Amino acid sequence: MPSLKPDITGFTRQELAKKLIELGLNSVLVKPVWNGVYVKGATDFSQIATLSRKHQLLLADHFTLGRSTIVRDLISRDGTRKWLLQFPDGHRVESVMIPEQDRGALCISSQVGCTLSCTFCHTGTMKLVRNLTVTEIVAQALNARDKLCEWGKKRTDCVCTNIVLMGMGEPLFNFDNVSTALKIIMDGDGLGISRRRIMLSTAGVVPMIKRVGIELGVNLAISLHAVHDELRDELVPINKKYPLHELLGACRDYPAASNARRITFEYVMLKGVNDSDADARELVRRLQGIHAKVNLIPWNPWPGAAYQCSTRDRIQSFARIINDAGYSAAIRASRGDDIMAACGQLKSDSEHSVVTR
Ligand code: SF4
Repeated sequence: MPSLKPDITGFTRQELAKKLIELGLNSVLVKPVWNGVYVKGATDFSQIATLSRKHQLLLADHFTLGRSTIVRDLISRDGTRKWLLQFPDGHRVESVMIPEQDRGALCISSQVGCTLSCTFCHTGTMKLVRNLTVTEIVAQALNARDKLCEWGKKRTDCVCTNIVLMGMGEPLFNFDNVSTALKIIMDGDGLGISRRRIMLSTAGVVPMIKRVGIELGVNLAISLHAVHDELRDELVPINKKYPLHELLGACRDYPAASNARRITFEYVMLKGVNDSDADARELVRRLQGIHAKVNLIPWNPWPGAAYQCSTRDRIQSFARIINDAGYSAAIRASRGDDIMAACGQLKSDSEHSVVTR
């Protein structure tokens, strides 16, 4: 049963100060609480040694502080790790840790399921169950620190250095909670993952893009996948509402983009669908005037899907055209595909608890 008490990880530092004052406490207590939770990794108020016993008990009377249950912890042969988290109401999401040589990105989810039904994406075959709360988004970062034993370590010794919002769900359909959670994750006295190390990926919720740049200033990624409206309407159906010229216009005006901080355009390579040389040339034409770089993603299969991945030669030819035009086009290595943790493969087995809206 979900607790009736709010979890303390749902509050920004300012909100926490207000809550403490409402309890008759001094707001200076925010500092030890914040340090205990986000630097030391406390999972119980009694573990925050810099608080008096009286204050520990008072906080425990009014708030919860715990962790989501890890139902499954899978490790891929390439070191990618996938966690299935269960929340108190029984719903589940996946998050994926992708370690690299000297850093690593934690891919987190923002919704249980997704409304957008992109046809190449496994998550898109789930119905939307609900948005994640602030606590549930932050929980994914706390869980990674727990599992990687990174509490109290110097940032340079941590694997979880970056966050990407590319897991289950469309983050801009849950903007308020995503925004608050990212402010908590970015706080320099806590988890301290800077805006330059966070990437938010959207399928193209155009009216929200400017707010992401102004309010959060994080890196932006666009799930593009097609360069003509007719095909994009099919692959990424939100395109019917916000067609390419509107989406690319919002990217051109994105406040947090610069030469040094380019917008990433994700492009899944689907054999015979979107992978011709003509598509590559049209992509170059469409990106003009945008601080852009392109990630080419070899499509990752999932059961029942109607697509095939483009051949290696085709992907390389596509990349060459983009590179020759002066844009970077990285061919993304598939990570974690043996545990269904690769891009577009996430789908929690929470469907047993799906409620249709
Ligand atoms: S690609 Fe993203 S927005 Fe599209 S269905 Fe999958 S999770 Fe949803």
